[in-house]
This record gives sequence, structure tokens and C-alpha cells, in this order.
Amino acid sequence: MRQEELAAEIRRIGFSCTRCGECCRETNTDSNLVMLYPPERAELCTATGREGEEFSEPYPEAVAMPGGGSIRFERCIRRREGVCIFLDGNRCQVYASRPWICRTYPFMLSGEELMVFQCRGIGGPLSEGEAWEIAGLLLARKRAEEQEEDRVRTLLSTHHIPAGADVLIDGTGMRRL
Ligand code: SF4
Repeated sequence: MRQEELAAEIRRIGFSCTRCGECCRETNTDSNLVMLYPPERAELCTATGREGEEFSEPYPEAVAMPGGGSIRFERCIRRREGVCIFLDGNRCQVYASRPWICRTYPFMLSGEELMVFQCRGIGGPLSEGEAWEIAGLLLARKRAEEQEEDRVRTLLSTHHIPAGADVLIDGTGMRRL
């Protein structure tokens, strides 16, 4: 989908953040799970001065291997009692460095399809410029996702996964859990 079409569709739907902070809290199972690609993790390390391990953990979904063991792909932001650890009251402490998915919520691209998640801000006023920016971010995330998938595919084809091991794979490599 081209940015023009995407921006027009987003503007038609409308969105204005009410600053309720609900998207940063778990309202349904894993509703606030924020996947972090390696560049996003690096950005948050720089912004917070913390190690990635401190604020991120392996993505919960695991692919079971036929001979035992499992693979998990990518990492996500840690949560405390279902709340993103970067949320303070209703404020994001890493707002300027927040991941793509947080910047575009409640919109997300699934392939070419625009998905809209439940959010009380839907239907709110959205300027042409804001819609254009969200569309650009969605397309940038899609490109980053495709590049990350390529890196992970290459890793999978070049690395031996030890039998029975639980491993984590992202674009930076494979490590045992
Ligand atoms: S990083 Fe910020 S915007 Fe994203 S879920 Fe956490 S608190 Fe919310």
C-alpha cells in the first residue's frame, strides 16, 4: 500500500490520543505486548542508559521443536503486574524513544492490510500531517520487519540448533535461554 492511500485511510478512521494509558496496560491477554527489534532495543539502551536485559525479555510465544526444546523469536518490553515498565502514571518515560508499535497504535499493518485495535481515541480528529506521519511510520516498521525476518531466516539456515535446547533468535544472533 502506498503512503498516500494509507494516510487517507487512517485519516478517514480518525484517531486522537486521550492519554488514558490503556494501550500500555494489559487489558486482555498480552494486549500490551510490545515486540522490540534489535535497533529499537539499542535506541532504548541509549535513551535509558540501561542494558537491554533489564527492560526486555524473550517474546512469550515459543515454537516447540520436534525433538524437544523450543525457539523463541525476538524480545519484548518487560511488564510489571501487566503494566509496561516504562509507564509512570499515564506517562511514557521513554516517549521520544518509544518503539514503532507504540508510535502507531491503534494502527498496525498486517501485510498490506491496515488493522485498527480497540482504543477510545478512534474517531478523534487527525490532521493530514499526523495521518501522513503515522502512515510513514507504519511503512517504515514494515520494512524493518521484513529486514529482520530476512536476518532471522539467514540465521536459521546457517546455525545448528542443539537438540533439546531452548533458544532465542533475533537479528543479532542465537542464544540459549
Ligand atoms: S514504551 Fe511507552 S508507549 Fe510503549 S507501551 Fe511502554 S509506556 Fe506505553
